[in-house]
Amino acid sequence: MFAKKSLGQNFLSDLETARKVVEAGGITRDTPVLEIGPGRGFLTRFLVDAGARITAVEKDRELAALLPGMFPGAPLNVIEADFLELDLAPLAALRPVVVGNLPYYAAMPILMKVLEHAGTWPRLVFMFQLEVARRLTASAGTPDYGVPTAVVSLTHSASIVRRISPGAFFPRPKVESALVRFLPLDQPLLDRPADRLAFGDFVAASFRFRRKKGSNALSLGTGLDPATAAAHMERLGLDPGARLEVLSPTDLVRLWKGIAASAR
Ligand code: SAM
Repeated sequence: MFAKKSLGQNFLSDLETARKVVEAGGITRDTPVLEIGPGRGFLTRFLVDAGARITAVEKDRELAALLPGMFPGAPLNVIEADFLELDLAPLAALRPVVVGNLPYYAAMPILMKVLEHAGTWPRLVFMFQLEVARRLTASAGTPDYGVPTAVVSLTHSASIVRRISPGAFFPRPKVESALVRFLPLDQPLLDRPADRLAFGDFVAASFRFRRKKGSNALSLGTGLDPATAAAHMERLGLDPGARLEVLSPTDLVRLWKGIAASAR
């Protein structure tokens, strides 16, 4: 069976990386696990061996049909579905650790969908292309810092656990990958999913002008006049002359809240 490029099928073949997923996920006997895109079951095998209770969502009909037969007697429920179309509420109710060697083409939308239910998953461990992993784990003021970093930081602390070379996959991707672990914050910066969405829109609009000084970027992004934008920053002790990209997620949230409150 050939790998389907359209489904982002780069199958893992590296034992150490699979072991790291289990370790980083804190997966032991009876841990409920949701695996996104199990493919030919390379990673699933390690989850089964760890004794996890697994729900696996696979879009490829042929692979979804093959998987149960590969693990007879294992607590494995395979759902043939497009993860992006799936109602996650029943799966979130199991409070599983979520893992996956995500298809590159849909990695970000899959992550954003998982984060809509932030607070229900004890841990997330995903493989991304390295460039994406860097953007998800960047610090404020660095070139990789941006909308994905700010949005993830609302609910999780994310870190790169391991870099993975193209040789760990078949077929070999053109780029390096990385394993990223997301741990939920004790206190999310924003609790309500609707607020997190609105905050994401705010950062996306304002960061379009990230090379400009903060108050101008804010003005262009939100439609506020420049003086009002500067006043909002000054009120919070933020320098209107500095670029927005130096602001921590916490400061961006304070800024968003201040502007949203004044618009009410
Ligand atoms: N976990 C396997 C491994 O590590 O060898 C396969 C990883 S491969 C990068 C991505 C897997 O996700 C493929 O099996 C692909 O068919 C599946 N997939 C792609 N898009 C999907 C989607 N929207 N929903 C669910 N599975 C998807």
